[in-house]
Amino acid sequence: MRFVPSHLKQSAATLDRRSAVRSMLLIFAAVMVCVSAMVFTALDRVGHYANQLDEERSREAVTGAIQTFRDQLTATLHDYVAWDDAVTHTQDPLDLEWLQRNFGMMSYQSELFDVVMVLDGAGKPVIAYSEGKPIVSAILSSYMTPDAWLLFKRVASGKADAVPEASSFVSTIKGVAAVGVGLIRPRMAVDAERPSPSYYVVMMRHLKGVSLERLSRAYVLPGLHMADVEIDGTHRVDIKGPDDKPFTALGWVSRSPGDTSLAQVRPLVWCAVAMIAIYMLLLFVTGSQALSRLSADEAAAVKLSLTDRLSGLPNRAGLFAGMADLVDKAQRDNKDVALLYLDLDGFKEVNDAYGHATGDLLIRSVSAGLRVLVGEGSVLARLGGDEFAISFAGFDVHKTAIELSERVLDFLGEPLTIGERVAVIGCSIGLAVSRRGLVPGEELIRRADMAMYRSKEDGRGRWTLYDPSMDEEREERNLLELDLRAAIDRHEITVSYQPVVDARTLRISGVEALARWNRDGHGPVSPDLFIPIAESTGLIDMLGLCVLRSACLALKSWPDLTLSVNVSPGQFRDPAFVGHVAKLLEDTEVDAARLTLEMTETYFVQNPARARQTLDLLRKTGVKIALDDFGSGFSSVGYLRQFGFDRMKIDRSLVQSVGEGGRALEMLRATVALARSLDMPVTAEGVETEAQAMALRLAGCDLLQGFLFGKAMAAADIDRLRMSGPLFTLSNTG
Ligand code: C2E
Ligand code: MG
Ligand code: MG
Repeated sequence: MRFVPSHLKQSAATLDRRSAVRSMLLIFAAVMVCVSAMVFTALDRVGHYANQLDEERSREAVTGAIQTFRDQLTATLHDYVAWDDAVTHTQDPLDLEWLQRNFGMMSYQSELFDVVMVLDGAGKPVIAYSEGKPIVSAILSSYMTPDAWLLFKRVASGKADAVPEASSFVSTIKGVAAVGVGLIRPRMAVDAERPSPSYYVVMMRHLKGVSLERLSRAYVLPGLHMADVEIDGTHRVDIKGPDDKPFTALGWVSRSPGDTSLAQVRPLVWCAVAMIAIYMLLLFVTGSQALSRLSADEAAAVKLSLTDRLSGLPNRAGLFAGMADLVDKAQRDNKDVALLYLDLDGFKEVNDAYGHATGDLLIRSVSAGLRVLVGEGSVLARLGGDEFAISFAGFDVHKTAIELSERVLDFLGEPLTIGERVAVIGCSIGLAVSRRGLVPGEELIRRADMAMYRSKEDGRGRWTLYDPSMDEEREERNLLELDLRAAIDRHEITVSYQPVVDARTLRISGVEALARWNRDGHGPVSPDLFIPIAESTGLIDMLGLCVLRSACLALKSWPDLTLSVNVSPGQFRDPAFVGHVAKLLEDTEVDAARLTLEMTETYFVQNPARARQTLDLLRKTGVKIALDDFGSGFSSVGYLRQFGFDRMKIDRSLVQSVGEGGRALEMLRATVALARSLDMPVTAEGVETEAQAMALRLAGCDLLQGFLFGKAMAAADIDRLRMSGPLFTLSNTG
């Protein structure tokens, strides 16, 4: 299982969005519930008010109807009792027949009254009719109920109102009726005046059947009916008897217009709410789908931005992300974090020699191999180019890191199949450890990187553990670089000349220009120190040209000498270099044939094709090319032949071992023989002893250079040497 940085599992933004969607959904649901509740409550209220209004209106109408019902009876009664004819016909002798005709018969199918009785002053019925028919005396009391008698007594006693009439409601055998009792009297009678004998009319109109229907129609009160006062109900108006106590009630069927309207509106409102809910839900569904698509895209983009496309491994950003998780874990578990910084040694060569496609293949193979070597829970990343990093947390990370480094070195030290080719790549590793994950990721990488450079400097193919002293050295190196830059700007780099003597005469025949820097406040700095810095910082172009110019100018006053100037690979790589040399030769008017440029073989090994091109161009200017320091590095015979140098300079190390005798001398001889077989004259460098000089001369070197003849010196000293004879006298010149 590979290490997956936590932010790839689920980015914080994605989580945020999900919880936002979730809370939006909740809010939406809550809003929908609230809105629905409010709408339905409002509807209920409207319905309730409508019902209430209807109830009030109905109540008023029923009250009015009862009142009107009674008033009508009272009016009819009044017409019948305040009637002169009736008075006449009730005087002695009592005209029964008239009473029957004008009172009794009138109750038949009358809309005004249905029961009528004429009573004498003692309450004895004279006539009693119900709906045009006489009432048998047996059931008379069913009409003249105690309540009816109460009313009668009130009128008969004269304690009634000003008018000797009274009305109320009573309950009879036929049901509830409006009842009126009035004294028969002349129409214009004075109130106190009572005829004698006195007769009273009891008139009733029952509230039922046709009368109820009529009321119902007239007052638009559906379902008007007699109701029971005992039964609890709201849709009724009580009807009171003469004693002012409710004994019955008139009820109606409530139309509940609010409920009816509500019943009609409610489904529509439900529909509307449901539609809104569905619409919002659809919005949410599409919204969250878009959101999850966006989240997926974002996760893919994040993953892509953290992944190296070529190898499929995390890139630099991916490494940081992975390390952040490792550091978290390390701090929790009290573990240390280690970082291995790997740089392939031979990647550039493969890329240059076989092209980028092969280079890409190499990166893929190396990545695949490292994946197998790297343990579970570790982060393996490609930082770009040929640089990789491995990070992991643990308790004894030093040991584990070193073991892993060894395994990686072993793996990359083996020949690697790249497509159809096989190459040994090798690598340099820097190790850095962060105790308890306290060193920030960036700093850890910097330390491991620095340690890796130390591995490179120390000869590649090895691991180096970071040491704080490396920082001091780096700091010192940075200061040196700053000072060097300033020195070049201020033309403080001077040139010294080391004499090169003819092996035969031992007289000076030429000079090698060597750069010198007297660093302000520090004294002389060795070229072995500042030249590599100038090379790595690009300052070498300027420095090299300065040396070349000074040397060419000096050469003008030494017409009998040749000049050698060192050229760095960095300068050689500069496409403008050849042009600069040509321009300089032209400016200083120096014969190109007297100038030799010295090159070490590193560049020829690294970039054979490009090197050949530059060499050809340089040759066209007329300068010679010498292979410097032969015998110190690869010393490839193939390269010697291939590039056809104009001169070989045997390295000091080879020369100095000559005095020790044995195989060294043989090697020297063989080397010179090899050069000569290729028509290459040979200069021996670093000649310090007479014995060496002798041996070299015998071996076939035509030029000698070394402290035996003189160290690098100022131009003025060369002037002096030119005038002198041989720079050294060999005891045996044979
Ligand atoms: P090099 O080109 O091989 O130069 C010869 C070096 O050997 C010089 O060291 C010289 O002082 C030293 N040497 C000569 N004879 C003897 C001897 O008998 N015994 C010993 N022990 N040393 C001897 P120097 O001047 O320190 O330069 C070192 C290297 O720095 C040079 O090696 C050359 O590669 C580089 N260098 C010097 N000046 C320049 C320059 O202007 N441009 C470039 N690119 N490189 C330069
Ligand atoms: Mg040299
Ligand atoms: Mg040399």
